[in-house]
Amino acid sequence: MNNRCFLGLGSNLGDKKENLRKAKELLIQKNIKIINESTIYETKPMYYSEQDNFLNQVIEVKTDYQPDELLEIISEIEKKLKRVRKIKYGPRTIDIDILFYGDKIIMRENLIIPHHRIIEREFVLEPLCEIAGDFIHPEHRKTMCELKEELIRENRKTKFLCDAMLGDIAEWLRLTGFFVFYNPDADDNELVRLSSEKGYILLTRDKELSKRKNINALYIESKEFKGTIREIFKKLKLSIDEKDIFSRCPICGEKLIDIDKDEVKLFIPIRIYEEHDKFKMCRKCEKIYWKGEKYKNLYNQYLEIKDILE
Ligand SMILES: [Zn+2]
Repeated sequence: MNNRCFLGLGSNLGDKKENLRKAKELLIQKNIKIINESTIYETKPMYYSEQDNFLNQVIEVKTDYQPDELLEIISEIEKKLKRVRKIKYGPRTIDIDILFYGDKIIMRENLIIPHHRIIEREFVLEPLCEIAGDFIHPEHRKTMCELKEELIRENRKTKFLCDAMLGDIAEWLRLTGFFVFYNPDADDNELVRLSSEKGYILLTRDKELSKRKNINALYIESKEFKGTIREIFKKLKLSIDEKDIFSRCPICGEKLIDIDKDEVKLFIPIRIYEEHDKFKMCRKCEKIYWKGEKYKNLYNQYLEIKDILE
């Protein structure tokens, strides 16, 4: 039993505590050894809010199964406990996620390890921090407690929603580390819904839209880029933390991960490889970033804007 894994358990249907207990019992029956269990946490549903609260727990296990075998066993257990999955992110009897499998990194369509939503979920990081605070995320290269602190800090920061006309602003805000939802195909109703449900601040130059009911919006008067940034930062009394610069993918907004120089060698021009030592990657877009021209431009823009703001 050599492989150290962490599993996330969640239930929000029926006797939730009993579901967690049964899941663990079935794992043990399959020769998976539970060596540590976190406290059980109660959490509000994250994506689909018209449902009951979840009970969540993280367990540390040891197993001889390979990742695929483990995944198969977990699916069987979920089926056995009659998991209902009519709505994506909707109610379920039991949900078992493989969070970590040692320090393995696996990226396949049906299996992604480490689980890619760990860093945005307090209900996963909190219990992980409790039972394995020093465990290092193989991609983000930070301990569970560091990631938890980072997420708490992140959650206190303003989150944005940009309308279709503000793509350049969305990109800039992401580059400076802010969470931004930006989808040029989203219609006004969807923007209003997201703003009221998630508390994101909608940035828009559409006065009518900014006045809609239940919306958290900032109507932007400025028509040009720098003025817009200045307006947003002044009106919302925001500041930029220098260490957040280039922490998110400008295309999709996902957090970037550090990646070894040798791992990117084949995918970048040799000149870049020779000139740079630090690389970051967006797992979702599979794009590699380094502190090149784009970074320098952004950094200069940041310095200029910082001066204006102070
Ligand atoms: Zn991306």
